Amino acid sequence: MWSCTQLVTQLKDMGIQQGDTLLMHTSLRSLGDVRDRSATLLNAVLNVIGVEGTLMVPTFTASCADSTENMTDESERNALRMLTPSFNRKTSPSDVHLTGYFSEEVRNHAGSKRSDHPIYSFASIGAQAEFLTQSTPLSYPLGSSGPLHKLHQLDGKVLLVGVDQTVNISLRLAEIWAKCPYIHRSIEVKSADNRWVKVEGVLQCRTGFERITPLLRNSRIMKTGRLGDADCYIMSHRMLVSMGVAMLAGDPSAILCRNESCSSCIQARKMCRETTV
Ligand SMILES: [Zn+2]
Repeated sequence: MWSCTQLVTQLKDMGIQQGDTLLMHTSLRSLGDVRDRSATLLNAVLNVIGVEGTLMVPTFTASCADSTENMTDESERNALRMLTPSFNRKTSPSDVHLTGYFSEEVRNHAGSKRSDHPIYSFASIGAQAEFLTQSTPLSYPLGSSGPLHKLHQLDGKVLLVGVDQTVNISLRLAEIWAKCPYIHRSIEVKSADNRWVKVEGVLQCRTGFERITPLLRNSRIMKTGRLGDADCYIMSHRMLVSMGVAMLAGDPSAILCRNESCSSCIQARKMCRETTV
């Protein structure tokens, strides 16, 4: 069984240190045998980054978005839209199938701050938590002036624990800054005051994010490590975004997936072709 002390040593071995600002994406199960996994992991991380450090995790709430876009029956559509929950910064749980249970541990921690975007909120603990989570723009929430841009300003790090690049939403900032033709797609979401509002610049398929892995490995921007039993990847957020922007400047469809049944990426690739012609 892995102890908190052992996790602390492993985090330090990966280069995480006092004062770091850290965005984490975590599969708790991948840690292996750890008592009270989420609480022990949080203790270990906060111990390593210290009071000057800051931890941030996604607490996304896709359940607050309209899921009826492709429904043709108007009454069924209206019924489902009625049942869609409105976002509440204090009480709306993260969609743990998207963000993992560790996001809930951070969100529920005393002193945790949460940004107020109806679908793309983040929870944060530590010295820069207030800065990272204040006033996210409603549209392009993962772009300029949002939490990922602020993480960039703070020269933060990204830590993937037992997960791959497909969850690494920092690449969304690269897509926006590279002005990829497909970044403007929108969705309706139910905001805190129970109103439907349009959010432009929403994230779609992320399967293709994995295509940046060889570049990150070869350029040594991404280092590997272990936490408990989990394989981990650690990288500078700034260097990751710069690499993403450079890759997309050469080919705006570079991090779209190649799955022939992925309508989202097929549509996005078409937008890329039409823009370059
Ligand atoms: Zn796709």
